[in-house]
Order: sequence, then structure tokens, then C-alpha cells
Amino acid sequence: MRQRRSAPVATYIALGSNLEGPVGQLERGVRALGALPDSVVRRVSRFYRTEPVGPPGQPDYINAVVGLETRLRPLALLDAMQRIERTQGRVRRERWGPRTLDLDLLLYGDEEIDSPRLQVPHPRMHERLFVLRPLADIVAADFVIPGRGRLEAQLAACPRTGVERIDNPV
Ligand code: ATP
Ligand code: MG
Ligand code: MG
Repeated sequence: MRQRRSAPVATYIALGSNLEGPVGQLERGVRALGALPDSVVRRVSRFYRTEPVGPPGQPDYINAVVGLETRLRPLALLDAMQRIERTQGRVRRERWGPRTLDLDLLLYGDEEIDSPRLQVPHPRMHERLFVLRPLADIVAADFVIPGRGRLEAQLAACPRTGVERIDNPV
């Protein structure tokens, strides 16, 4: 039986794609997240064109962040996110290599999770402008990342290059 929790939790999920029509991949990803059981998409950030951080020679990425209110427990949510990645043709090859869709769970309410399959807050989110910039679109100015401090401060500490807003398709 699927594990559920009684109260809905505010979660934030980062989307990224640099293959096979990245904007369309993100649009489909947002719709698929909204179709999950016991889940509602509350906010969608602007979309950003970003320079790849992994192996060189990849196409640019499109990145965004979604605010998803859900009753799914963290691992059930991760399972569902990985199913969506597979449905959209994600193939895992080299680390940080090109992909049709990457869904990363940034935040799950104010919980801090450190299990083999899942670490929340996402361990690398604070150093990634392509995550922090869209997250800042959809949260309050005084938003605090659990265990890490104010989003504003993390954002100010990030090198401000390689992330460009595009016309929002959603
Ligand atoms: P990065 O995590 O640096 O953005 P990536 O997104 O390319 O890299 P993936 O190949 O998508 O990495 O995921 C590798 C593993 O990370 C997954 O199998 C998953 O179990 C684990 N993982 C741990 N924490 C998280 C999280 N917060 N969100 C998504 N996956 C996570
Ligand atoms: Mg990722
Ligand atoms: Mg990932």
C-alpha cells in the first residue's frame, strides 16, 4: 500500500532538461507532477536557460522549480519523480551528463532527510544559481532553507553567471 501522510506538505522540486525539446520536457514534467495522487502544483517558476555544469560539450539546459503540495511521503514522492523521469525517456549514463528530464527534490517541508536514496535539502542546491534563482521566483523574500539559512544569502553567495530567464511558456 502506498504510504500517505495526513497533512499536506509544501515541497519544492527542481526540473532540468537539455535533450529532445527541453521546454516541452519541462512542461510535460510539470503536468505529470500535478497528476500525482494527493498532489497539487501550487507554483511554477519562470524558465531559465543555463550553462551546463557537468561534462563539457553538452547543450544548454532549461531549468525551473515547482512548488508541489503533496501528501506523499518523501520516498513515495521520489519513486514517483523517478517514474516520471523514466516515462520521459531518462537514461542514466555518465554523472551529470545530458538528460531529457531531471527531477530533484529540493525541499520537503522543513524536514532534513539523510538516507542512502534521498538527501533533503538537496545537498548541492545552495551552490547552484540554476536552482536558487527559480526557487526565489516562487517563495517569500525571507524564505529559509532548512538547516542552511536564508535563500537570499545563498543566492548572494552564488556566482551570478550562466543563467538567463526566458519567456515563460507555462
Ligand atoms: P545532482 O543530484 O547533483 O543534481 P543528478 O540529478 O544528475 O545529480 P541523478 O542521476 O538524477 O543525479 O540521481 C542520482 C541519485 O540521487 C538518485 O538515484 C537518487 O536516489 C539520489 N538522490 C538523493 N537525494 C536526492 C534528491 N533530493 N532528489 C533526487 N534524487 C536524490
Ligand atoms: Mg540534478
Ligand atoms: Mg537528479
